[in-house]
Amino acid sequence: MKFATQMPLDEVYLLLRTGHIERQQCLSRPLVEDYVRVRFLACGLCGSDMSKFEGTSPVSLPFSLGHEFIAQVEEVGSTVPSLKPGDFVTSDLNFRCGACDHCLAGRSHLCRVGQSGLFSNRAFASRGNLHHSYLLPLEADPSRHLVLSEPLSCVLYALDWAAPKTADRVLVVGAGGIGLCAAFALSLQAREAPFDIADIMSARLLTLDSLLESAGRAVLVPAGEYDVVLDVSGTAAGLATACRSVRGGGTVCSMSHLDRASDAAFLLAELTRRDVNFKVSYLNGPRENLRRAVRMLASSWNPSWDVLIEQRPLRDLQSVLDGRRKSPFNKSVIVISGA
Ligand SMILES: [Zn+2]
Ligand SMILES: [Zn+2]
Repeated sequence: MKFATQMPLDEVYLLLRTGHIERQQCLSRPLVEDYVRVRFLACGLCGSDMSKFEGTSPVSLPFSLGHEFIAQVEEVGSTVPSLKPGDFVTSDLNFRCGACDHCLAGRSHLCRVGQSGLFSNRAFASRGNLHHSYLLPLEADPSRHLVLSEPLSCVLYALDWAAPKTADRVLVVGAGGIGLCAAFALSLQAREAPFDIADIMSARLLTLDSLLESAGRAVLVPAGEYDVVLDVSGTAAGLATACRSVRGGGTVCSMSHLDRASDAAFLLAELTRRDVNFKVSYLNGPRENLRRAVRMLASSWNPSWDVLIEQRPLRDLQSVLDGRRKSPFNKSVIVISGA
């Protein structure tokens, strides 16, 4: 293992305590043999970043947020197989050991090693050293909307399970970042009827509604019964709306993490005696879903949808996090260096 003597000076933004981000300067750590040094270009803000920032999902502090990134490779360790300096990459959320029972059974997103913090987020920074197995080459221009790759991969996994038929009435509850990804994925399907996407924030619906054209409708209140409902609200109230909106015998797939919700007792009452298929979908399933997401975004993203995404510089991270819950933008992205 060789350490460079001249290490670049990095800027990192850390969560120091609940609600408080601080910028620090430090020397890049030496590059270990199976790690890759990347220069971060842009990173999306995830609902899970918000719950750590707000303290509803406690982490040991200081903590580095930001996992939905695109980056450029600067340097690779001696045993890294397939990346080289200059490559543009995005990241999987999961370490997949390839050897545990979950990995061997095709559930590598539940890898028993990967859940134990080999990797934390760390992309709200100028550079980072990451284990090579997290990184996926973009094989396309590093356009900023590619920060949606990881959240879209989670949506694709959920939609694969929910498997709406072309004639089904489909509802998405929540028009934040995951809702945007769901709207994008559904708008590419040949559906017989437009899908609905609902949110209690009207500001997140107006522009989205016009951009969906005939593929979908953005609605404040869901109307009638739906065959398939995707809950991506991140809230117990959103999940309750989803459960109330599904027809008997229909399908509800929730991507919300509600393990710390004060009260989810409504769930059984809403679903009992209604024969509903219900799943809590977690992360993105097999790695292939990340590749699919990258390809879909590279080939089918309509640049007019860029207006749904707030783009702010890294120095604004604190104020973007402070304002995210009330932001009219469907997604917030931190721009780190020229992409
Ligand atoms: Zn995420
Ligand atoms: Zn594993």
